[in-house]
Amino acid sequence: MKAMLLTELGDLKSHPVPLSLRDDPDPTPGEGEILIRVSTCGVCHTELDEIEGRTPPPDLPVILGHQVVGVVEEFGNGNGVQSFQTLDIRGESQRQETLDSRIKVGDRVGVAWIFSACGKCEHCKAGEENLCAQFCATGRDVNGGYAQYMTVPAAFAHPIPKELTDSEAAPLLCAGAIGYRSLRLANIHDGQSLGLTGFGGSNHLVLKMAKYMYPNTEVFVFSRSPKEQDFARSLGAVWAGGIEVTSPQKLDAIIDTTPVWKPIVEALRNLDYGGRLVVNAIRKEDVDKDYLLKLDYPSHLWMEKEIKSVANVTRRDVRECLKLAAEAGIRPEYQEYAMEDANRALAELRQGKIRGAKVLVMP
Ligand SMILES: [Zn+2]
Ligand SMILES: [Zn+2]
Repeated sequence: MKAMLLTELGDLKSHPVPLSLRDDPDPTPGEGEILIRVSTCGVCHTELDEIEGRTPPPDLPVILGHQVVGVVEEFGNGNGVQSFQTLDIRGESQRQETLDSRIKVGDRVGVAWIFSACGKCEHCKAGEENLCAQFCATGRDVNGGYAQYMTVPAAFAHPIPKELTDSEAAPLLCAGAIGYRSLRLANIHDGQSLGLTGFGGSNHLVLKMAKYMYPNTEVFVFSRSPKEQDFARSLGAVWAGGIEVTSPQKLDAIIDTTPVWKPIVEALRNLDYGGRLVVNAIRKEDVDKDYLLKLDYPSHLWMEKEIKSVANVTRRDVRECLKLAAEAGIRPEYQEYAMEDANRALAELRQGKIRGAKVLVMP
């Protein structure tokens, strides 16, 4: 198969072509796994963190990509006909939910950042498999979807609703699912105000989800890019302005998706008493870390303001996000690239060139 491989870590500036196209043997699914013929794979900012070593893959070379859509070709148990997986998920509210994912050869499925978790620890048993110490990440700890084929445990493949095309579904598997988790953790109810800091692949979907789930909630968007501010207003934000601008009112919750520190400090300033800042970023870059010295306890933290980070996703997040998108008509804005152009897609993501999500289409 053809695949784009990461063979060496390095800064994109000095190392602008990090991936190389290679012909590799097709992977073989093990027991309990399926082989997927990949059709599309989203490009995520986390891939920049992997390439530049902020969340490095444990082994190289590795195939990146954790927003994978494709068709089931084969089961590792050899029968190749049909297998049934039932997933028990216990929500935070102790509500026991069963998500039935019957998968058979020929079905369209997606693979997200969660490639596997132990299933036995306290976190897994509580439905917080995203916090499992043995959490295994697609396209970092194991090969992902910048390739024509990949394997994944069948229980961690997600049926794709028929309403979504392959390119629409791909960004929902990470940007959408982690955005959905961030919105859950923001813990707002209908009518409370919501701020979004950074307006790329994830937060533009959060805005659409928030408008559907909380129709009376007003959304305020902070972005350094005037184009993103216009984009946010066109999607229904009541206000959009720069990162350091004071919002027209204090906000009940803010979701930050930027890779740096200044927006954290500024968001805390715009939070209302008792408000919550949700940081949806796997790593922060150190370029402006000294901005944290501007942190002023009375205006930024006091009055019971909270900061909560978002780590990974659970299968529940992925499946509920796909269902919500199908139901609510939420479709990501995206731009397609050929798999061979993955380096260009990553460079343009780094430069923040194109709005919405980026999707690789496999040959
Ligand atoms: Zn991602
Ligand atoms: Zn576990």
